[in-house]
Amino acid sequence: MKKTTEEAFNGKSIRPTTMRILIYEYMETLTAALSLAEIEKYFHKADKVTIYRTLQTFLEKGLVHKIMDDSQARYRLCADSCEEEEHNDRHLHFYCRRCGQTTCREEIMLPESLSGSLQIDEIQILAKGICEKCLTAK
Ligand SMILES: [Zn+2]
Ligand SMILES: [Zn+2]
Ligand SMILES: [Zn+2]
Repeated sequence: MKKTTEEAFNGKSIRPTTMRILIYEYMETLTAALSLAEIEKYFHKADKVTIYRTLQTFLEKGLVHKIMDDSQARYRLCADSCEEEEHNDRHLHFYCRRCGQTTCREEIMLPESLSGSLQIDEIQILAKGICEKCLTAK
């Protein structure tokens, strides 16, 4: 079952402010990861500093994760398993050269055993190519 914004925030101890709710709900409607510039563009009336801080809070609290793709950092909502200071985004990211969108591919996970005796704080696995949508588009 889909979580309400309130439940998602409570689960990660994020205090709900108007801007936080708006940004979260916007990200929830999309499948692709968003750059800061894209979020700023969508909320063009909002203060840029507030948007930036909101994203930083989401990152710290384990609500969104950052993906470095071809050109920039993008942000995407995390799974429930991510917590404050402890992200668990071990999945593949896919960057489409044609539409320029970056998406999370949770079905392709890096095995836990890869870490071994290492402490891994962050994993970036990025594949580049052409996405399903662009491949079937004529
Ligand atoms: Zn995460
Ligand atoms: Zn594409
Ligand atoms: Zn992801």
